[in-house]
Amino acid sequence: MGDRAAVVWDSALLGYDLGGDHPFNPIRLELTMRLARSLGLLDDVITLAPEPADDPDLARAHDMSYVDAVRQAPTVGWDVGHGLGTPDNPVFDRMHAASALVVGGTLLAARVIAEGTADRAVSIAGGLHHAMRDHAAGFCVYNDCSVAISWLLDNGFERIAYIDVDVHHGDGVQAAFYDDPRVLTVSLHQHPATLWPGTGSVTELGAGAAQGTSVNIPLPPGTRDPAWQRAFHAVVPSLLGAFRPQVLVTQCGVDTHAEDPLADLSLSVDGHRATYLALRDLAERYAGGKWLATGGGGYQLLRVVPRSWTHLVAAVLDRDVDPSTRVPTEWLTTVRKVAPRADLPLTMSDGADATFDAWSGGMSDPVDAVIRDVRHAIFPLHGLDPDDPRD
Ligand SMILES: [Zn+2]
Repeated sequence: MGDRAAVVWDSALLGYDLGGDHPFNPIRLELTMRLARSLGLLDDVITLAPEPADDPDLARAHDMSYVDAVRQAPTVGWDVGHGLGTPDNPVFDRMHAASALVVGGTLLAARVIAEGTADRAVSIAGGLHHAMRDHAAGFCVYNDCSVAISWLLDNGFERIAYIDVDVHHGDGVQAAFYDDPRVLTVSLHQHPATLWPGTGSVTELGAGAAQGTSVNIPLPPGTRDPAWQRAFHAVVPSLLGAFRPQVLVTQCGVDTHAEDPLADLSLSVDGHRATYLALRDLAERYAGGKWLATGGGGYQLLRVVPRSWTHLVAAVLDRDVDPSTRVPTEWLTTVRKVAPRADLPLTMSDGADATFDAWSGGMSDPVDAVIRDVRHAIFPLHGLDPDDPRD
């Protein structure tokens, strides 16, 4: 598979830097690529360097008045509106160019899949799922996921499934395709009553002919790997079987981790790894093997993001890393130079058990109530039986 999988990367992507103490620090990407390299995952792999997305492609997901505001923000400097210049979305030098490059990365991943040069492609700098048509939100300037999905719809794909496992609701992508029956969006996230952006309830189903193509699985704070996996497997595979997508686009934020400083789910690196393997398997079973993976959120910069996304890159390349693998000394030495006191992980595992009991219609866990609600809201719209665990 190695030849049929593409890794999009260029150090210029580190230019998407919100500055200061902002949690979205590009070191998360740099340390991921460094860890993947030091484990040998990228040996013989040619990384593809993107070009910035141009205006016509940005216009797939954004108003040009907003794009112009982003372009001009660093020189205007005050009151630019559009969600810019806020603590979450500060204005930074070359903001337009850096943001357009992130979109270009995910577009490049889409392009190699559409051209058939790769069945899978990963763009870890992408996954900026909160950006809206006319404003920045949640650290996201341009929505690379929405642009890439729109591009795929114009380049041979008629049914696309977007699966978002970030701890926050994938609101920007859901909004972009809320009335488009060609795009199934599924977001698993911490319950909106307990976390920004406060959307993503079960009742957001999609509009008009797209009823049932927006799927939200809101999980209680504290949810751990087995319950998260049970919810995922009780909903996602059946829906993909019914929807029959031609490609899977996934936002793989890792801010669901127990140590993430911005949210309250309790997953592990082992749970993240299990999810990537499940997404790959679902792409093989239901989407002709086509899988476009992006990064996303994740703010435990040293202990979590590099290991989790290294497992993601490994899964895309079919070079799975055993959880017991030791973190290479070379990587640890590099990180200690920037963070001498950090308590760094020594293996590619948190020692957590990500196995789970499949949903059987019971109510033994708070997550089972969520599963029941989601299945009852969505499954009948796809000809599936919400009460039958085989569906
Ligand atoms: Zn997030």
